Amino acid sequence: MPVIDDFNLAIDPDEILQLRTVGDNPRTRPRMAKLVREILDELEIQSLIRPRATYAFVAVTEMMPGQVTLAEGTVFHAPLLTHHMAGAAHLVPVVVTIGQAIDAAISDCFARGASLKAVLLEEIANQFLFKAGEHCEKSIAATAAGLNLQTSGTLAPGHEGIEFDNQVKVLKLSGADYIGIRMSRTGVMDPVHSTSFIIGAGSRMRYWTQAENCQTCAARVKCPHRRETSAYAECA
Ligand code: SF4
Repeated sequence: MPVIDDFNLAIDPDEILQLRTVGDNPRTRPRMAKLVREILDELEIQSLIRPRATYAFVAVTEMMPGQVTLAEGTVFHAPLLTHHMAGAAHLVPVVVTIGQAIDAAISDCFARGASLKAVLLEEIANQFLFKAGEHCEKSIAATAAGLNLQTSGTLAPGHEGIEFDNQVKVLKLSGADYIGIRMSRTGVMDPVHSTSFIIGAGSRMRYWTQAENCQTCAARVKCPHRRETSAYAECA
């Protein structure tokens, strides 16, 4: 399985400070800003963000509304996928993680009663995971271009129209085991800060952004991480 490990991820403290979960109280903001900067420095010094990803180009043998069959026999029942990726010659299941070390650091903070730091670490970890996913999208698009293929946007199991139980298939096809990602019995990935998605590849594919995915996500109203179409910034 191809592995992506050439990440060079960076986060600006303002990206965290503008999250709805962090709040915008002017009295606490300087303290928050200082803490976020300290945490980002600590993460870098201790190398606690360890991103890796793996993926596979799997040929499509049949696609009909609501169902796609792949060359090695896997069948996805996913109306959203067949609608958005109609015409794909390959599906590219992808799994990406930022590693176990950050999970351990968050648990350690909670155990020591450093809840504010733990919450900020959690938000920072989520931002790193988003960025790692975006890096994978670009890397896979470049590989596809070398094969004279275009790539679509991403779709993740759990989005309306692509049931969550498809995730097991995505992990298997992408070679998640190969980089140490497993699914627990409760359906949570280990390491926790991991994500999976599918990209379509073909001679003519439509691209869409994560912000467009957020527009149709059932969780968007409450989700603090949703992307807005007008800007990269999180919505207040
Ligand atoms: S609204 Fe939140 S959960 Fe839904 S797709 Fe966007 S980031 Fe993911």
